[in-house]
Amino acid sequence: MKLVNESGKVSLKDMTFPELREWMTEIGEKRFRADQLFRRLYQGAVTPQEITEFSGALRSRLESVGDMTAVSMLRKQVSKDGTRKYLFGVRDGLAIESVFMKYKYGNTACISSQAGCRMGCAFCASGIGGLERNLTAGEMADQIVAMERDTGERIGHIVVMGTGEPFDNYDQLLRFIEIVHDERGLNIGMRNITVSTCGILKRIKQFAGDMPSVNLAISLHAPDDELRRKIMPVAKGYEMSELLEACRYHEEKTHRRTTFEYALMKGVNDSDEHAVKLASLLKGMLCHVNLIPLNYVEEKGLRGTERKNAEHFAEILDSRGIEVTIRRELGSDISAACGQLRLENRG
Ligand code: SAH
Repeated sequence: MKLVNESGKVSLKDMTFPELREWMTEIGEKRFRADQLFRRLYQGAVTPQEITEFSGALRSRLESVGDMTAVSMLRKQVSKDGTRKYLFGVRDGLAIESVFMKYKYGNTACISSQAGCRMGCAFCASGIGGLERNLTAGEMADQIVAMERDTGERIGHIVVMGTGEPFDNYDQLLRFIEIVHDERGLNIGMRNITVSTCGILKRIKQFAGDMPSVNLAISLHAPDDELRRKIMPVAKGYEMSELLEACRYHEEKTHRRTTFEYALMKGVNDSDEHAVKLASLLKGMLCHVNLIPLNYVEEKGLRGTERKNAEHFAEILDSRGIEVTIRRELGSDISAACGQLRLENRG
């Protein structure tokens, strides 16, 4: 696939390595030049002039036919704990968000898969305004390269948990994973990548076959259909039992532990009864529950559960044999919640 962008240039980051090699030969260059170019693209070079091993002629040629970057930084917020939130612009003027986080095990990037989102979850800022468009694989990959370049640090883990529903942009998601996994480039291990979905059954099963080493996270947020359908429109299309069946299928095929994300919303899904129901729902699965303190989104009017109540909720799960953690809040001093930078930008 060769994407020619608005400026009439080939978007080099949208190509997998085999595609870049084919393209190099098509424009009459030696195949091994593709190897050098791919390496440089993912080391963070932004213009062909930085590729000093190329002749002046090849550099000018690349300059006129290709685009090395797919995103550009519009804004950045840096937290005391090292978390950085970025607002990136893509070529047609849309804005997307990404986050750089420091964990004990290494640096993690949270990236967006779409500009906007059409899933319309009740608590999420990303869906306000609906879906603008799918991001290309290169626009996803370049969020990581741009953050490595800005921080001067290596990113070893990726979570596809930013704006958008990755399984609603499935083909580009697979290409993105292939690109960032390539050992000539970012070389990120499949096991260090997590894709988070609101639960698109067909894709959960397909993904088990396509990318069996990549981790799956399911945004669950409710222990039954009635409540889940109130806060997540996607749940209207199937029964909770079918979602869990898809997760079990994924687990059997991949032997990977599924993460269930559960954002605690005050008075909505955080009672003892909800915790008990959730525990019985997940009993026997190879899984882990990640309780998320809800980020307050003004437009949505839902509040997060207080810390001590979240701990109580976690204890109920734990006492019933469900592995549970409460997500550490990073970057709380850079107030913008998920999707907020982008909304502010739209004014
Ligand atoms: N569409 C995918 C990935 C993007 S959302 C999905 O649904 O999983 C990434 C995670 O952030 C999801 O678990 C989502 O439910 C959660 N999230 C959305 N809005 C939030 C908020 N206001 N506070 C905390 N978590 C939120």
